[in-house]
Amino acid sequence: MASWNPWHGCHKASPGCANCYVYRGDQRRGLDASKVYRTKSYDLPLRQKRNGDWTIPPGDMVWTCFSSDFLLEDADEWRPWAWAMMKVRTDLNFFFITKRIHRLADHLPPDWGDGYDNVAICSTAEDQQRAGFRLPILKAAPVKHKSITCEPLLGPVDLTPWLGGDITSPGMAKERALAEDLDIPVQRVSMDGILYRPPDELRWDDGQEQPPGPSMDSLC
Ligand code: SF4
Repeated sequence: MASWNPWHGCHKASPGCANCYVYRGDQRRGLDASKVYRTKSYDLPLRQKRNGDWTIPPGDMVWTCFSSDFLLEDADEWRPWAWAMMKVRTDLNFFFITKRIHRLADHLPPDWGDGYDNVAICSTAEDQQRAGFRLPILKAAPVKHKSITCEPLLGPVDLTPWLGGDITSPGMAKERALAEDLDIPVQRVSMDGILYRPPDELRWDDGQEQPPGPSMDSLC
């Protein structure tokens, strides 16, 4: 498993960004996460060792752009090269999560067709409003491997209108487990849908109020 962050930094785009771990991490280091820059490991998928082997070995899953959002506006200039590297490394599987699935259609490479076999795209859906906006777009998008994550869950979300077919929610088992750990009643509304208690009833073990959602982390 490899990690590739071609650019770093982001702009908060929705309520699910409130506890963004990129912001929290940069803040700890005295940095400003709203300053977006191309990283030194931008070309990591194409790097080779002295012996000619790929730095990221064939067959690896590559967690892509987890210190930003792959579809961030600031990265429009850099993204075509990132797509091109994915195209070259057909021996790797790239996976990114986005809160900007609405930007995908206008920022796909010209040879994308119905999707690269080795690219999986996940949309966040942290509440019903965001699910209602983003998931029809994801459903219709020409992407070979699609998934949904609700992290951080901010309220009851019913995903059933969009699950099935070519969309899965690999994070759902984890989210259900988180809810059960926190003793949140979970009501399955269908095979993969989930409802849970409103966030204002959540507490940390020490009695302090917990920010909305079973998980503090927002991620892209
Ligand atoms: S949660 Fe994602 S979209 Fe929001 S600020 Fe962080 S990296 Fe950007």
